[in-house]
Amino acid sequence: LIQLFRPLDLLGWVYRTIRQGLVDMAEMFRLIDTDIEVKDIPGAPALIVRTPTVVFDNVTFGYEPGRTILDRLSFEVPAGSTTAIVGPSGAGKSTIGRLLFRFYDPTQGRVLVGGEDIARVRQDSLRAAIGIVPQDSVLFNESLAYNIAYGAEGADEAVVEQAARDAALMPLIERLPDGFGTMVGERGLKLSGGEKQRVAIARTLVKNPPILLLDEATSALDTRTEQEILGTLKRLEEGRTTIAIAHRLSTIADADNILVLDHGRLAENGTHAALLAKGGLYAEMWSRQASERGKDASTTDEGEAG
Ligand code: ATP
Repeated sequence: LIQLFRPLDLLGWVYRTIRQGLVDMAEMFRLIDTDIEVKDIPGAPALIVRTPTVVFDNVTFGYEPGRTILDRLSFEVPAGSTTAIVGPSGAGKSTIGRLLFRFYDPTQGRVLVGGEDIARVRQDSLRAAIGIVPQDSVLFNESLAYNIAYGAEGADEAVVEQAARDAALMPLIERLPDGFGTMVGERGLKLSGGEKQRVAIARTLVKNPPILLLDEATSALDTRTEQEILGTLKRLEEGRTTIAIAHRLSTIADADNILVLDHGRLAENGTHAALLAKGGLYAEMWSRQASERGKDASTTDEGEAG
C-alpha cells in the first residue's frame, strides 16, 4: 500500500494535508510513519478505554511561541454524550481535534481520555480509540470493500456489509456492476461528496471506536444530502462519545453540550436552548445563520430539484 504514496513529494503533500486538517489522520500517519514531533515516552503503556470520557484540563496551546491559540481551555465530554464545538473562523476548533489526536502536545494543561493523560500512553492506542469522519475523505484506488475495511485489516466480510448497510451505501452498491468489488478513487469510479462521506462513516463503523471526532462532517454537501447523512451520523454516534466540530449550527442544535469558542477561549457553553436564551455570541451566530438559511432556501430548493 505504501506504494500508493510514492513518489516522496506526494508523501510531503499527505503530511502537510493531515497537519492542516483532520484528513484520515490515523491511517495516513500509519502509512508515512515519519518525523513526527510528538513521541511516545519510552515504555508508555497502551491506552485502555473503559469509560470513554474526554477532558481538556486547563489546556493552553500555540503552534508558534508568542501566539496562543487555545487559552486555558477546560471542558469535559461525559461518556456517550455529544459535545459540539462552534465559534468564528480561526477560533481554534480544529486545533482541539489535533490535540485530542495528539498531533501536538499542549504547552500547559492536559488532555485526558478515559481518565488517562494522553501524553502518557502509546499514540497508536490513542488513535485506535478515536474514529474520525473528516471534511473530505480520502479514497484509495482500491475496491469499495477495501476502502470500507481500511484501517481494520482482516475485518469480516459480514461486518463490512453491515457497515455499508448502516451507512446507507447499499443503494449505491447494488447499482454497481461489481458491487463491493468496484474500484473507486481517482483511477476508478468517482464518488460524489455524499457517497464519500458514507464510505467514511462505514469505515468508522467497521473500526468501531468508543470516541468520535466529526470535523464538520457534512460541509461539502447540499442540503438534502446533508439531511440524509445527518440521520446516518446519528446512528454512528449512538453509544459513543462524540466531539463535533461545526460551522453550521443547524447540524448540531441537538448536541448535549455546545462549546462556543472565541479566540481560543471558552466564551460560553450549554444546550442550544440555554445558549439562545442567554442572548450571547451563540445566539448572535444562530440568528445570522438563520437569516442566511432563509435567503438560501428559495434558491437551493430550485437548484436541488434538477
Ligand atoms: P475554521 O473555522 O476556519 O476552520 P478553526 O476554529 O478550526 O477555524 P483552527 O484551524 O483551530 O481554527 O486554527 C486556529 C488558529 O491557529 C488560526 O489562526 C490558524 O491560522 C492557526 N493555525 C492553524 N494551524 C496552524 C499551523 N499548523 N501552524 C501555525 N498556525 C496554525
